[in-house]
Amino acid sequence: MSREVWCIVEHRRGQLDADSLQLFGAARRLDGEAVAVVCGDEVEELAERVSGQCDRVISLSNSALASFTPDGYAQAIVPLALERQPAAILALHSHFLGRDLAPVLASRIGTGLISDCIDVEWRTGFVGKRLVYRRKLIATQRSIEPGVQVATCQRGAFVVPESTGLGAEVEVLPIEIDAAAIRWEVGAFDEAEVVAGDITEADVIVAAGRGVGSKENLDLVQRLAKAIGGTLAASRPLVDHGWLPRGLQVGSSGKTVRPRLYLALGISGAIQHVVGMRDSDVIVAINKDPRAPIFEYADYGVVADLMEIIGPLTDEVEALQG
Ligand SMILES: Cc1cc2nc3c(=O)[nH]c(=O)nc-3n(C[C@H](O)[C@H](O)[C@H](O)COP(=O)(O)OP(=O)(O)OC[C@H]3O[C@@H](n4cnc5c(N)ncnc54)[C@H](O)[C@@H]3O)c2cc1C
Repeated sequence: MSREVWCIVEHRRGQLDADSLQLFGAARRLDGEAVAVVCGDEVEELAERVSGQCDRVISLSNSALASFTPDGYAQAIVPLALERQPAAILALHSHFLGRDLAPVLASRIGTGLISDCIDVEWRTGFVGKRLVYRRKLIATQRSIEPGVQVATCQRGAFVVPESTGLGAEVEVLPIEIDAAAIRWEVGAFDEAEVVAGDITEADVIVAAGRGVGSKENLDLVQRLAKAIGGTLAASRPLVDHGWLPRGLQVGSSGKTVRPRLYLALGISGAIQHVVGMRDSDVIVAINKDPRAPIFEYADYGVVADLMEIIGPLTDEVEALQG
């Protein structure tokens, strides 16, 4: 078994998802050689770009891989993995690529899959740790399958190693893809409406209260929600005014939510609202009244006029994300 840990570099049509470079950090945890695997169409430039942060790069280009499909990527990666037997293949546990690709790779290689790992190590076999039961427990899972291991890693769980400043060797391999065997066709990517999310499933919620002042101001809240990858929700008055659909109401006569982050904007903190969100992991409240009850439940409180800070706050988030 080699010490190579293959890290699937995530990108959409050449646009790098820099978080996938965190997989190199996971490869270091596994004491392995961090090998970036870059698949796509004409990905040579991307391969060069990531070469400063890993030990080696495998570049797999074919026009049939222009859009990500699990079938296409598996055709490129699986034969090579079976031939070279890397110790592990890691992908980001992302909505776009990793969560679809990793199970296909595992099943075609004939191995198991440990998904959404926050830590990985070797301990008489491959071990992955993952948060379960709404992140209240850490499950330690050990693969009993010898051979190539497949795992997905949680975004943010591993640190991108410092750049060496030296470009690692890039191995450009010719690959053949049977385009007819790709059972997906990617149509288009359309901007999703933030309000479409089910608030009980959301990891991040941006909740608007009467303090937003008007229906028009909800555009500002939506913009912030989109910038931080959150789902819009509301207190009851906004729903009663008909500004937002009933499905977005949090509280005793609405839905109960437990996101990782609950951002309460202009919400007073009436008990009928609080019962629906107080078990959120982290609560951040913005309210201009320092005596607003919501601050009793908030982990972080900002006493400010929402309308003065929501624009600059969103600008800042957007700037950070580049
Ligand atoms: C039977 C029953 C069931 C209910 N069920 C629910 C429920 O499921 N969900 C729910 O939410 N409510 C429910 N309510 C209503 C609840 O009692 C409160 O009236 C409601 O939660 C208040 O909503 P709010 O905090 O958005 O508005 P408000 O209480 O009016 O608070 C607005 C807040 O915004 C702040 N503010 C104003 N302007 C700004 C600004 N520019 N910048 C910053 N802050 C500002 C104010 O200081 C204030 O704290 C229920 C009530 C009853 C009787």
